[in-house]
Amino acid sequence: MHPMAADLTPAPPAGATDAAPIPAAPPSDTGGAEAVGLVQPYQARKRYVCPGCHGIIARGEGHLVVVPEHAPDLRRHWHRACWHRERRRRDGRAG
Ligand SMILES: [Zn+2]
Repeated sequence: MHPMAADLTPAPPAGATDAAPIPAAPPSDTGGAEAVGLVQPYQARKRYVCPGCHGIIARGEGHLVVVPEHAPDLRRHWHRACWHRERRRRDGRAG
C-alpha cells in the first residue's frame, strides 16, 4: 500500500457550470452595486437583446455588459446609449 501516490488527481475547476439557472422573476430593482464592463467589437461574438430598447445588439457591435455584484447570473448586455439613458433615469428617480 502506498497511500501517498493515490490522491494526485487535480480537482475540477470551480464554477465550471455550463447552464446557469434562470431566475423566474428578475428583481425590478437590484438595489445594489453593478459592475459595468465594456465589450469590444471583437469580443461580441453573439447577438444580445438590449433590455433598454428591446432591440438587437448585433454580433461584432461594441456594447456594455452590466453585472449586479450580488447576482452575476443576471448580467445584461446594453447598447451604450441605452445604458446611459437608464442611468439618467435611475439617478432622476433617486432624487
Ligand atoms: Zn438598446
